[in-house]
Amino acid sequence: MRSATHYLWFNTPNKYAFLNITPQVEEQLDQSGIKEGLCLVNAMHITSSVFINDDESGLHRDFSVWLEKLAPFGKDKYQHNLTGEDNADAHLKRTIMGREAVVAVTQGKLDLGPWEQIFYGEFDGQRKKRVLIKIIGE
Ligand code: ZN
Repeated sequence: MRSATHYLWFNTPNKYAFLNITPQVEEQLDQSGIKEGLCLVNAMHITSSVFINDDESGLHRDFSVWLEKLAPFGKDKYQHNLTGEDNADAHLKRTIMGREAVVAVTQGKLDLGPWEQIFYGEFDGQRKKRVLIKIIGE
């Protein structure tokens, strides 16, 4: 079995962002030379997500509105923020949107559904954050 490991770095200009990272993951798969296996992509921070969905700007606005209803930003709303932090909402948003995506690798390509794309979801940006790509297979 072969494996490949790569880290993507992000420092988004805004606090919140959805970035389509499918091209970066495909590039790492190409470089790995692995043709059959699995590709794991996970956020390495507890206030950001990796998830798979449609690359459609209206949907991304819908996600943002929905997340803000479920876990609104607010320094005085959460126990976690009593520690002096202000990012309790980002922890909750991360949990809702998920930590990782696992995609099958078939004939050297990410075996995604017709509209599936891999996204990095940032909920507490404006600082350096990492995403792990781990590909295993033959
Ligand atoms: Zn925190």
